Amino acid sequence: MSATIINGQQLAKELRENMKVEIKALRENGIIPHLTVILIGDDPASHSYVNGKERASKEIGISSEIIRMDAATAEAVLLEKIEQLNADEKVNGILVQLPLPAHIDEQKVIEAIDPAKDVDGFHPINIGRMIIGQDSFLPCTPFGIIQMLKSKNIEVAGKHAVVIGRSNIVGKPMGQLLLNEDATVTYCHSKTKNLKNFTRDADILIVAVGKANVIDASYIKEGAVVIDVGVNRTNAGTLTGDVDFESAKEKASFITPVPKGVGPMTITMLLYNTMRAAKGLSEV
Ligand code: NAP
Repeated sequence: MSATIINGQQLAKELRENMKVEIKALRENGIIPHLTVILIGDDPASHSYVNGKERASKEIGISSEIIRMDAATAEAVLLEKIEQLNADEKVNGILVQLPLPAHIDEQKVIEAIDPAKDVDGFHPINIGRMIIGQDSFLPCTPFGIIQMLKSKNIEVAGKHAVVIGRSNIVGKPMGQLLLNEDATVTYCHSKTKNLKNFTRDADILIVAVGKANVIDASYIKEGAVVIDVGVNRTNAGTLTGDVDFESAKEKASFITPVPKGVGPMTITMLLYNTMRAAKGLSEV
């Protein structure tokens, strides 16, 4: 059996076309969704992510600006800038591109953003609301993965979902969103013993490790849904996921590729959150 590929790029395109129509209507009513991205330092990957977010915003009618700050910027200066943006009515979404230079406390910065403008969904208020099942901005990568599962009518309720990775931005919220969809969730991480014992029982396997080809077919149950979050650069300069796609696709029922998988959906959900922020996410 060869798995059905969940093409994140195609799904992202469809969702963005729908959003474009919605944003056009908002603009006609005088609402111009606006996203401000703060980029500190000159990490090439961060630059490319931020440029991609700006380009994607503009394509669907979201006004977007990038504030570039020097790598030596003091934490206090960054916090003051965030305060100004919190108070600026024309700004609907604020995103501080991570990682930050070591002298800046990442958590402090995340918590400085007004939760109503926290389109990354990383603020503890949004995370807390997600956990108790209230309306909130959802972290973009796991949110996008849920949309990918829905797009293929993949049943989640009652299924055993195994998430490898427990970062605050991917693994932990991913497991929570699957739990919210009534999956039975297992988290695995670097200290997990006998990883295969868990992954081979997974109906849905989410891999968010950050190591190329760490999961091959021998970790996968026949017919499982495999979602590869990893983005790793090969020696040849191309991108590859955490899953050995060629062997895994012979065992899985559905699988996401890298590139053209989860990545485009992450940006799409950022655009979606920004559009929602412009409409006024009333409860936050
Ligand atoms: P992270 O913070 O480095 O977390 C990696 C997780 O993997 C940790 O929980 C770690 O366990 C676990 N781990 C490491 N080695 C392992 C092993 N051999 N077996 C089992 N678990 C292991 O990374 P992240 O930010 O979550 O990102 C994960 C990957 O997704 C990266 O490649 C990143 O580039 C990619 N990513 C992609 C998107 C996208 O839109 N496509 C978005 C975000 C991230 P411990 O907690 O015990 O250390």
